[in-house]
Amino acid sequence: MKQSPSPNFNARAATVALNAVVIHYTGMKTAQEALARMCDAESKVSAHYMIDEDGAITQMVDEKNRAWHAGASFWRGVTDMNSASMGIELVNPGHEFGYRLFPTAQIMALCDLLHGIIQRHSLNAKTCLLAHSDIAPSRKQDPGELFPWAYLAQQGLGAWPEPAEQDYETPRQTEATALLSQIGYDITAPDDALTAFQRRFHPENITGVANLETIARLRAYKKSVG
Ligand SMILES: [Zn+2]
Repeated sequence: MKQSPSPNFNARAATVALNAVVIHYTGMKTAQEALARMCDAESKVSAHYMIDEDGAITQMVDEKNRAWHAGASFWRGVTDMNSASMGIELVNPGHEFGYRLFPTAQIMALCDLLHGIIQRHSLNAKTCLLAHSDIAPSRKQDPGELFPWAYLAQQGLGAWPEPAEQDYETPRQTEATALLSQIGYDITAPDDALTAFQRRFHPENITGVANLETIARLRAYKKSVG
């Protein structure tokens, strides 16, 4: 693992439990550009790790410290998500500069890194993984709909909703926002929260409107993560 220390960190808030890992994409044209930005004191942004498309991992901030990757955010009532999480940046130009598939080598390296983080900090493997878009649904789209959440769930990293027959019964549109809130989303802008859920769990239907399949997946996901 390469080291490229960033000055952009501080101490985690003692009152906030470390229970999450936030997945990002860099959203810049090159990996070098992204790394330079995250190590520049002027930018005030960082992450614990960046993973290049070939799987090479660079550490910028020690896991014990609070990296600055989440920005204004919310999950399950917590707004200081930098204190509550690790931040991992995946090199990808993102929606602005040519969003593309995450290569297998990059995802393999991510899975190894996640297994280590989960073990070192006794995180709940089912519930700890979050997209940046989950915690800032009105501002962020990363890591986006090409990120392989279902594959990660197969590796024991996160949960993938598998609706049962009863999850399709008597769909109620009004139920969606309540479920999103119970799962952890900020529902100040309910359509944005629903879009974030779909980007992650129903990527073939990112509409901001809950159809029967979205509602079934919401119900199934809520059941699987408690
Ligand atoms: Zn991000």
